[in-house]
Amino acid sequence: MTLRSFVFSFLAGGVLIAIAACTVSEAPAQPQSQPEAEPWNWSEETVRSAVDQVRAGRDLNPDSWPDGAKVAVLLSYDVDNETVQGLRTGTVSIGPLSQGQYGSRVALPRVVRLMNEKDVPSTFFFPAWSLKLAPEQAGLIQESGKHEIAVHGWIHELNTSLDAETEERILRDAVETLEEITGKRPVGYRAPSWNHSPSTLQIVRDIGFLYESSLMADDRPYELVQNGEATGMVELPVEWILDDAPLFNPRGNSYMNPRDIMQVWIDEFDMAWEEGTMFLLTMHPHVIGHRSRIVALEGLIDHMKAKGGVWFATHESAARYVRAQAGMD
Ligand SMILES: [Zn+2]
Repeated sequence: MTLRSFVFSFLAGGVLIAIAACTVSEAPAQPQSQPEAEPWNWSEETVRSAVDQVRAGRDLNPDSWPDGAKVAVLLSYDVDNETVQGLRTGTVSIGPLSQGQYGSRVALPRVVRLMNEKDVPSTFFFPAWSLKLAPEQAGLIQESGKHEIAVHGWIHELNTSLDAETEERILRDAVETLEEITGKRPVGYRAPSWNHSPSTLQIVRDIGFLYESSLMADDRPYELVQNGEATGMVELPVEWILDDAPLFNPRGNSYMNPRDIMQVWIDEFDMAWEEGTMFLLTMHPHVIGHRSRIVALEGLIDHMKAKGGVWFATHESAARYVRAQAGMD
């Protein structure tokens, strides 16, 4: 298919508007299957089977975090770079791509420097193509030995629009690619655009990931349940409130001052501290890595450190800890 016909097919499907909106912030949840008839006429079984595809199971928040910490803080970076600046939809345009390249060229080094200075282990989720385009990012992240590299799809594909076979093939390719470049097999998965197709969880289980981090049924870690059966898969949940992309877009309708956003995150953290649970923040180097935003991120970390009782951890460390505490190993 030519680029022109590819783009036209999206236009014809009425999908391009949604995709355009997703190039800055990530995609909102899309319905993945349409059961028969109007929803107010659905049978009991239709409603229940729709919600039961993937459901939150038991709470995995431990009674205490390592070293008696009050709260676990998991900082994650989705290193999307060029993949969300056009590559994933095939709507390639040079200006947006340059904004993506800022991610690997300027922003990631700035982010990694801050994490190392503050001694904060972090997790970096990569679409495979983001790492293939700038493989030096791996060495930069791995140099300190404290950070994790995990999987964020192949080219930030819209996994909910793929058939199961394609989704599995490119996710397996992404795992292989990350392993080749980093020398370590990734153990964590975050879905591009934070959504699951009807096949995603089964694929993630079949590949053997240690944890999943794309869904939103809790503030605390929990076990995923698939069609009523506990899976043994740890979910480390995300939330749009705790994401830099939607509110840091200076051309969006919901732009906020970085220091105001920092205050929202501080409030989220303070309550997580009081509850003894978890604070998981998703950022994107090409978004958070600008100078005025790094100042806000540094302010957040300084607040956490001043409060004390914080366990800063990679997603992998947190997943292993909660698994052990819950007797899942
Ligand atoms: Zn992403």
